[in-house]
Amino acid sequence: MRIYADNAATTKMSQTAIQAMLPYMETIYGNPSSLHSVGQEAKEALNDARERVAKVLGATAREIYFTSGGSEADNQAIRSAAVLGKRKGKTHIISTAFEHHAVLHTLKKLEKEGFTVTYLDVHANGLVTPEQVAEAITPETCLVTIMFANNEIGTIQPIREIGAVCRKAGVLFHTDAVQAVGHLPINVVEDNIDMLSLSAHKFHGPKGVGVLYAKRGIILTNLIEGGAQERGKRAGTENIPGIMGMTAALEEAVAEMPETAARLTKLRDRLIEGLSEIPHGEVNGDLEHRLPGNVSFCFEGIEGESLLLLLDDKGICASSGSACTSGSLDPSHVLLAIGRPHEVAHGSLRLSLGKDNTAEEVEQIIVSVKEVVEYLRNMSPVWRDLMNGKRQFVIK
Ligand SMILES: *Cc1c(COP(=O)(O)O)cnc(C)c1O
Repeated sequence: MRIYADNAATTKMSQTAIQAMLPYMETIYGNPSSLHSVGQEAKEALNDARERVAKVLGATAREIYFTSGGSEADNQAIRSAAVLGKRKGKTHIISTAFEHHAVLHTLKKLEKEGFTVTYLDVHANGLVTPEQVAEAITPETCLVTIMFANNEIGTIQPIREIGAVCRKAGVLFHTDAVQAVGHLPINVVEDNIDMLSLSAHKFHGPKGVGVLYAKRGIILTNLIEGGAQERGKRAGTENIPGIMGMTAALEEAVAEMPETAARLTKLRDRLIEGLSEIPHGEVNGDLEHRLPGNVSFCFEGIEGESLLLLLDDKGICASSGSACTSGSLDPSHVLLAIGRPHEVAHGSLRLSLGKDNTAEEVEQIIVSVKEVVEYLRNMSPVWRDLMNGKRQFVIK
């Protein structure tokens, strides 16, 4: 039996989402730009999906742009704000040190093009404050981009308050809400959000499809040139099956949210409680402002990679941090950002629970992680040094 606890990397598609896609592969497979009936039926579906997604977010249909996923939406949001800023001579951007690489790498590129970026320090609890944002804003600031919820440690930022600070200062505010949409209540108007990125495969929809919400009046910059799809801002024949699957998954996730969140929060807290019994280990990130399914730990004296491989042998699919950095030996930039030293950040484990996980699975995970951590520590020279006092423990 396999236990899947890597829902922050991606989720299993829901049956609702799969069923919503099938007609658009089998019968209504037309190109929405075609004038004949099969094309026009696809176009009607597309319009309908745009209305439905807008409704869920509290936006209007003309503010919804379908993309190939969260990464593209992040890229386009930041690029667009940079272009708009530069026209007014504003080339300063504010972000944080623990954003997703889709954001960080886009910002790095803009730095090479002459923009300056302030990366706000993330507190040890994995949070930034609206006050930090307010202090960092200058007359040159054209964009604040801060993620809604972190993909590694699950911390939820005070988005509404940060948005209010940006509104007051007249600065565009983008949030990468890929981990939050479908898991937390979001309303772009009430939450003071100008641009928002989301991705279907993080809430039981298909991979390769997402949304960029851009508030009316924000002129987007194209990343892809071609036809006039997406109001001329994103060329390419629309991924209708993906968009229909995403829309159905989004509505389903939002309808189930109160129940799923309550259940997951219980499972999460039990998992944190169980794993806290392991000595010289510590949970990463604030316990209160936290995604319902996220559990993130650092264990001293072990390598996260070995932990993952041995857990996989026991049928448990977990992660050391973000899927994008695994495979590299650098410790997670997120854990470094919250002040974990290198040697501790290496011993990280992320378990992200989803709606299919059960209480029995959580108990099994606790038993297996305890076993594997002990096994690895018994073989580790670093652990031996820690135990006989040649090295000091960082986590007491
Ligand atoms: C997964 C993820 C992304 C990337 O989304 P894709 O659709 O896979 O491109 C961006 N930001 C965060 C926070 C994520 O978790």
